[in-house]
Amino acid sequence: MRTYRQLWIVLAVVALSACQTARKASQPIEFTILQYNDVYEIAPLEGGKSGGLARVATVKKELLRENPNTIAVLAGDFLSPSVLANLKMANGERISGLQMVETLNAAGLDYATFGNHEFDLKDPGVLQNRINQSKFKYITCNAMRRAGDQIKPFQQQIDGQLRDIPQYVVHEFSNAAGAKVRVGLTGVVLPFNKQDYVSYAPVAASIKEVLGILQSQADVNVAITHLAIDEDKQLAADVPGFALFIGGHDHTNMKYQVGGTAITKADANVKTVYIHRFTYYPKTKKTVLNSTLKTIDDKIADDLATKAVADKWQRDAFKIMEEQGYQPQRQIMMAKTKLECTEYKVRAQQTNMGALTLQGFEAVSPGADVYLLNSGSMRLDDDILGTLTEYDILRTFPFGGAISTMQLPGETLGRVLQAGLVTNVGEGGYMQVRYAEQRDGKWWIKGEMLKNEKTYTVVLPDFVATGKEANLGFLKDFASSQKPNFTVNAATVRNDIRDIAIYYMEQLGTY
Ligand SMILES: [Zn+2]
Repeated sequence: MRTYRQLWIVLAVVALSACQTARKASQPIEFTILQYNDVYEIAPLEGGKSGGLARVATVKKELLRENPNTIAVLAGDFLSPSVLANLKMANGERISGLQMVETLNAAGLDYATFGNHEFDLKDPGVLQNRINQSKFKYITCNAMRRAGDQIKPFQQQIDGQLRDIPQYVVHEFSNAAGAKVRVGLTGVVLPFNKQDYVSYAPVAASIKEVLGILQSQADVNVAITHLAIDEDKQLAADVPGFALFIGGHDHTNMKYQVGGTAITKADANVKTVYIHRFTYYPKTKKTVLNSTLKTIDDKIADDLATKAVADKWQRDAFKIMEEQGYQPQRQIMMAKTKLECTEYKVRAQQTNMGALTLQGFEAVSPGADVYLLNSGSMRLDDDILGTLTEYDILRTFPFGGAISTMQLPGETLGRVLQAGLVTNVGEGGYMQVRYAEQRDGKWWIKGEMLKNEKTYTVVLPDFVATGKEANLGFLKDFASSQKPNFTVNAATVRNDIRDIAIYYMEQLGTY
């Protein structure tokens, strides 16, 4: 009898603990993803008021205190463009994104996917170095390395070993009761500004294939998408099954819901970040997502370790700029209207930043019939609002360069306008113009129809005048003249696009 009773007690205890285990396993699990995208600046902008990776590092630490199940994800575009990236270090090598990698390492980034700008690095060896120097892990399901006629995954050195960059990872989180959730993460990039050493597999097919694998390996799926928003929406409709697209490329914050997929993008240069708080219910396999946009400004304290890294790079860069005769922190204008300088805009339409720069050309070199500026010389890929400093001009025009004057026959000017405003749409050779326009299929200069036999005075960057711009190589056969300096209202302005823009915008004061 006693033995039976003992057995019952044992069975009851077993049943009870099994029951408790089952209850534990069904407890919801909470986890947080900190999202940022399109970051070219390590330090705050707008006179120190907005952005700054040291502040983002503080936000990550606060989120970790709130919930240890926190990761930070960067949705592409960070190794370039940047004025710092083009500067040379003491050893003669270009910085090429090292300032960004070291600051992101300090800021506690966990995962990144490639944006189109990562492949702006011309030398795949430099890109490989930056990937290896990253403490965060890269994920991409559609960008591969082209080596001769072979297509192979990109690689990352982790713990001294070169490993293929994965198409996806499964990141596991658990709660205090020991219940687990497996989060599938994949990344995808659009084929924009294609680079020869990169093979871009089709976006939708690649992500669909990965989702097929993840469905048996993960409980919640998240894609890091470096795509234009229309593509994101189409992809979410065509490939359902992701709880979230952590988006990049668009530079302004936005949030959409397409079926079961939320799509979010924060503002470029960490002016804002997205915080995604997930709750996963194992019993029902349901996920609840609460996403909030957080402004990064001077109300957030700096993480001192991250700030030390960012400051070191910023100091070095400012020193190089000062050696070139600039005062990077000097305020030159107050932009009350947003100065438009995103790449997709300046390469396809006239923008106010292009117009202001061309007005500057006219201020130092008046009397020409047409003023031209190739959009490829504007590399900011962002908008500017508020305090405009010399540094903002330097990061807008990282290459600088002189402007030249040409006397061109009308027929040739017609060819220039056709290439610069029609053929080159979407490319760096697309022209910002002053005093020229197309109406009814004809070119008009200062309100008069272009005459083939007339000679026109054209002011344009020397880079374009010497035939280096796409579809404008024929210009090298025409003479151009160039002054080392301009004298305007008793001021001497060095003949460089950056100096001209600084001079003109300072005269304006506000815009
Ligand atoms: Zn991009």
